[in-house]
Amino acid sequence: MPRIAIAPCSKPHDYEESVRRAGGEPTIVDYKAHPAADLVSTFDGIVLAGGADVLPSIYGEAAHSTFGAAEAGRDEYEIELVRRALEADVPIFAICRGIQVLNVALGGTLMQDIPSEVANALPHDVREPRFAIAHDVWMTSGSLLERLMRERIEEGDDAPVNSRHHQAIKQLAKGLVVSATAPDGVIEAVEEPGRRFCLGVQWHPENFYRTGEFSALFEAFVKAAQR
Ligand code: MN
Repeated sequence: MPRIAIAPCSKPHDYEESVRRAGGEPTIVDYKAHPAADLVSTFDGIVLAGGADVLPSIYGEAAHSTFGAAEAGRDEYEIELVRRALEADVPIFAICRGIQVLNVALGGTLMQDIPSEVANALPHDVREPRFAIAHDVWMTSGSLLERLMRERIEEGDDAPVNSRHHQAIKQLAKGLVVSATAPDGVIEAVEEPGRRFCLGVQWHPENFYRTGEFSALFEAFVKAAQR
């Protein structure tokens, strides 16, 4: 059974449950107990989970007034995890804050506050219930994401998603391609083609483990982690 590391987060239950139902064995890791250097040889796949904002100084910007920092050390830890995982081609599934960490780790930047920076922005920060549908995403035809979601997409390339973020990718990192956008232009998913599995989504697919809307994503990730 593939061993899946889930980067530290405050509410791990739905991530663990999604990984378990997809056939993986989840472990919550943290930078004290699990140095990033050891992780890629101990685990078969890595989930980067939700959380607070990435320090803007890491991508060379001053902090916006709405900035809320992650716990000290978490940004650096997860960025190192991404680099080492990509080096070893260990599958990565990056969720919410995770897609932002992935983009920053590869040299991209973040939009620090969607309501201040996007005219006519859709509601991207709908907190309750956690599986509430906030907006659609348009998937890029032929992308890994679109191929995995094909059976669930009813019309065109749209899928309804939940949304709990006020930041998003601004400048896309080299090597990543956009695999979904919201109708207001906000980047909602990216992937790195040619990898065993490197997918980032800005929504929270783990919150749908009971109803299975996004279980194909977790299943493909765990399958790619099988050695
Ligand atoms: Mn959104």
